[in-house]
Amino acid sequence: MLIWEARRPKSPLMCMKYVVVSGGVLSGLGKGVTASSIGVLLKSAGLRVTSIKIDPYLNSDAGTMSPFEHGEVFVLDDGGEVDLDLGNYERFLDINLGKNNNLTTGKIYSKVIEAERRGDYLGKTVQVIPHVTDAVQEWIEDVAHQPADGSGEIPDACIIELGGTVGDIESSPYIEALRQFQFRVGRENVTFVHVSLVPVMGPVGEQKTKPTQHTVKELRGLGITPDILVCRSTAPLSVETREKLAAFCHVSPQAVMSTHDVPNIYHVPLMLQEQGLCEILGVDHRATDLLKDWKTMAHHLDTLTQVVHIAMVGKYTNLSDAYLSVIKSLQHAAMAVDRKLIIDWIEASHLESDWSNEAEKTTAWDLLKNADGVLVPGGFGDRGVEGKIAAAHYARTTQTPYLGICLGLQVATIEFCRNVLNLEGANSTEFDENAPTAAVVFMPEISKTHLGGTMRLGTRPTLWQVDECKIRTLYGEGEAVDERHRHRYEVNPDLIERIEAEGLVFVGKDETGQRCEIFELKGHPYYVGVQYHPEFKSRPGRPSPPFLGLLKASTGQL
Ligand code: GLN
Repeated sequence: MLIWEARRPKSPLMCMKYVVVSGGVLSGLGKGVTASSIGVLLKSAGLRVTSIKIDPYLNSDAGTMSPFEHGEVFVLDDGGEVDLDLGNYERFLDINLGKNNNLTTGKIYSKVIEAERRGDYLGKTVQVIPHVTDAVQEWIEDVAHQPADGSGEIPDACIIELGGTVGDIESSPYIEALRQFQFRVGRENVTFVHVSLVPVMGPVGEQKTKPTQHTVKELRGLGITPDILVCRSTAPLSVETREKLAAFCHVSPQAVMSTHDVPNIYHVPLMLQEQGLCEILGVDHRATDLLKDWKTMAHHLDTLTQVVHIAMVGKYTNLSDAYLSVIKSLQHAAMAVDRKLIIDWIEASHLESDWSNEAEKTTAWDLLKNADGVLVPGGFGDRGVEGKIAAAHYARTTQTPYLGICLGLQVATIEFCRNVLNLEGANSTEFDENAPTAAVVFMPEISKTHLGGTMRLGTRPTLWQVDECKIRTLYGEGEAVDERHRHRYEVNPDLIERIEAEGLVFVGKDETGQRCEIFELKGHPYYVGVQYHPEFKSRPGRPSPPFLGLLKASTGQL
């Protein structure tokens, strides 16, 4: 068991504590939430915490990956397009990470190959061990020491989450690097946590330990002995299950934890604390009030009864991971207005006039009409765009609160051009290159030949153009707001004057005064579009203003 010494001994390189979280048996066990929750416990003990997510795929980043396969692409302040788990870390730990906090095989190989081309290896054969494994360790040590909580101070602890499942061929160089890493930084400075599954079988609900025994055996075969086991299960582990796992997996019985089903994820840090994780890590969670706040939040969410219905009109509606941060932001805002959030998922194409399945069309329209508010999130490609335009039209003309994010701003602008300015066939050149009116156009600085990392990305300031409007009030003080971007197209600057003359006012623009960032419709309870993605900066207890506005308007509280 590890006894963590007092924070901040002399050399920061010596005092950094690492918690490595790996996963076994199968994916989807909530390894990211477990890892972030451990971070919350460390933070509650007064430590500064950062995190690194390792994704063993060959892509350089998540930017070119389909939300279908991989869930949402999370965007960081520095424009990094990363795995959605970094969103969990930012939200749980209230930190801001950079693109290097997401390590991928694509990045590490590029670095090693670049070094080889420079001649850095002095004639040596360049190999996975030691060159790639060394590069991984250097990367981790360097990034772990980058300030992340806005204080400018070096973190005290770093959570390292290894993506994938132990035993995957592509993750083996990382396991080896992490095995070596414990000697590089000192065994007492690294805690290995392995997340596994305990399935329940048979009529009496027997908790089965064999899958966990196997995955730990595999991990130990690779040279890593876990200090702590976290077992995903439906119910708390029985004493017998814990003891059996401890005996077979070479961990102490106190270090076998369960993450069983709970009503909401804010319970996870509390559940781990109740099982003694802080004692095992040697930290005192009573150093701050953080866990008290989490407890209040978790219980508040459990006790909400009055509902609010938000219609989400998108194209990945059967895959909630594709809109993870948007969902979280809606939840943060719903909590702030004391409502239980119900998201009514509407497949955008089902709203289209020529959708041939009448039953689907009726269901989609019924959901839209019964919703308290409408949200059209970001997106790429033309599938479902006409349905999104129809949703924006419905919200505008029925005084239903509307929030359009990125593509959601663009479709609402197209709708306005078509139906208020009577510009027939107005469209985005993304969907119709020869549109009679290009309401939304390709931005001049964007590459037409390279897809990876070439969008307008990351944090950019938006300057207020008016002294008073709803969205400015929601954001509060300040002449500008900083939000994160990810787009290639923008509202056609040539049309702005005509659009504004009809009441759709671009109340926020970029520093050049040309690029539209926020619109608000005059005389509507809440019709707001943002070209950026506010969902990436929403936090529990500190909801993002555009979302808060939507929820307030949808519940009559604006
Ligand atoms: N496809 C649009 C663009 O590139 C919108 C992007 C988005 O919603 N993230 O501008």
